[in-house]
Amino acid sequence: MKSDIEIAQSVAPENIMTIAKRAGIDEKYVEQYGNDKAKIDLSLLGESKNENGKLVLVTAITPTPAGEGKTTTTIGLADGLKKIGKNVVAALREPSLGPVFGIKGGAAGGGYAQVIPMEDINLHFTGDFHAIGAANNLLAAMLDNHIYQGNSLNIDPRRITWKRCVDMNDRQLRFITDGLGGRVNGVPREDGYDITVASEIMAVLCLSSSITDLKERLARIIVGYTYDNEPVTAGDLKAQGAMCALLKNALKPNLVQTLEGTPAFVHGGPFANIAHGCNSVIATKMALKCGDYAVTEAGFGADLGAEKFLDIKCRFANLKPDAVVLVATVRALKMHGGLAKTELADENLDALKKGIPNLLRHVSNIKNVYKLPLVVAVNRFPTDTDSEINFIIDECKKLGVNTVLSTVWADGGNGGIELANEVVRLCEEKNDFTFCYEDDLPLAEKIEAVVKKVYGGNGVVFTKTAQKQLVRLEELGFAKCPVCIAKTQYSFSDNPTLLGAPDGFEVTVRNVKISAGAGFVVVLTGDIMTMPGLPKVPAAEKIDVDENGKISGLF
Ligand code: ADP
Ligand code: MG
Repeated sequence: MKSDIEIAQSVAPENIMTIAKRAGIDEKYVEQYGNDKAKIDLSLLGESKNENGKLVLVTAITPTPAGEGKTTTTIGLADGLKKIGKNVVAALREPSLGPVFGIKGGAAGGGYAQVIPMEDINLHFTGDFHAIGAANNLLAAMLDNHIYQGNSLNIDPRRITWKRCVDMNDRQLRFITDGLGGRVNGVPREDGYDITVASEIMAVLCLSSSITDLKERLARIIVGYTYDNEPVTAGDLKAQGAMCALLKNALKPNLVQTLEGTPAFVHGGPFANIAHGCNSVIATKMALKCGDYAVTEAGFGADLGAEKFLDIKCRFANLKPDAVVLVATVRALKMHGGLAKTELADENLDALKKGIPNLLRHVSNIKNVYKLPLVVAVNRFPTDTDSEINFIIDECKKLGVNTVLSTVWADGGNGGIELANEVVRLCEEKNDFTFCYEDDLPLAEKIEAVVKKVYGGNGVVFTKTAQKQLVRLEELGFAKCPVCIAKTQYSFSDNPTLLGAPDGFEVTVRNVKISAGAGFVVVLTGDIMTMPGLPKVPAAEKIDVDENGKISGLF
């Protein structure tokens, strides 16, 4: 069996101008980065006369270490839509170097459903993440310099919330002391790094609708508090103009192609816990302008990814999805049914059946809370047996769940034709898209709405700290913001060991903070790692490049 990178390298990419033309993008908007990548100028959005296409969201059941295949399915569905003659554009997140060199690997799809050039997409690509890191660190440098130069804003160095960042899994940098070395070398303080994809700049870039909007959002970013407990912003430090200058090109979506020549935007990649976990609003809007169908994905399971896509991204960007695809796998369902990762290779219909309630809760959320048409795509893995596949599809049908098999990993677009036909049908259905909560609800009640309606919990417990923080954020004028809940991705609850569809739990909110530039309130239900570490054997050990520049070992 060929590896992902071998499959990707066996296909010669079409010239990016051909791909742009296929997406109906006039060459005047195309800024080429070599022969197989391009940035698309933002003016296309205002000038295009096209009607918006249909918006299709790909999400998944609760993830397990077995892997679900949302990106793979998104790409394969786009190729399937192209196979049945539709004009389609995909919109995906850009991978972070942290996971590429760590455990998870890249994020350009898999098997015969990939975007290419996968080596570039997984490594530096068009430099957007570097630009985001530079903007983030410029703000950090200006902040510390302000304190060093006399601190006229009265910033309390113990209450700085802005961290430096680097796009790498580097646990050594989580907590540091800097500014050491005496009077001319800065002001000593405790500090720390986040991974670039956890920087608020990433979330800001992904939610911005224009350069002006980007600059205004950057100015609103809170970097810390004064000795009088008043917020200090990037605007107070006069940093937004220079930060925005660094980000000007990063704001333009990157165009690439799937293995089958379907146009795909790969742009932005915020965390799916402390941020909203979707590609940029601008890329999604461009995909809608260029395609009759725009297929996009959201990170983690539907309780986190789809919830944030719908309640944050769609709310801010005025988007209305036309259909939702929920990816499920036999392997993950067997884990939800109680099996360990080591037991997944053996056929086990009993465990499969026990795992189905996880799927059902996600299905019900999309249909009954958000009122959107849905299809479950069973992403077939090589270890799945025919009886397992038939069993899951039959069981779902018995329960009234619209389900199709997807074999895009093995068969590319041909394996996504049935799914594509179903998506086309769903997009014609009338839908009454509804948010989980309205803007006017107090912050605590918004959190409660998500916990009760989406997670299936009994309620929320707020620590004393969280209660105080909520009061303060409402005083500061952030009551109308949507909430971005950071929770483990492995359970509907805040306990990663409660698989399946747990009942009767309460979610504990430990901390609440504002991402004022992004415009959402981040709700922390546990310790969320914003600077991951590398595993004992990092993927980086197997990555190499030969004398001709050919890369190996990426996956
Ligand atoms: P997600 O977007 O949900 O994180 P990806 O689509 O990135 O998942 O897939 C995760 C990993 O699983 C990738 O390495 C991909 O190649 C692999 N994968 C996905 N679907 C299949 C499948 N049907 N069979 C085998 N491997 C798969
Ligand atoms: Mg993915």
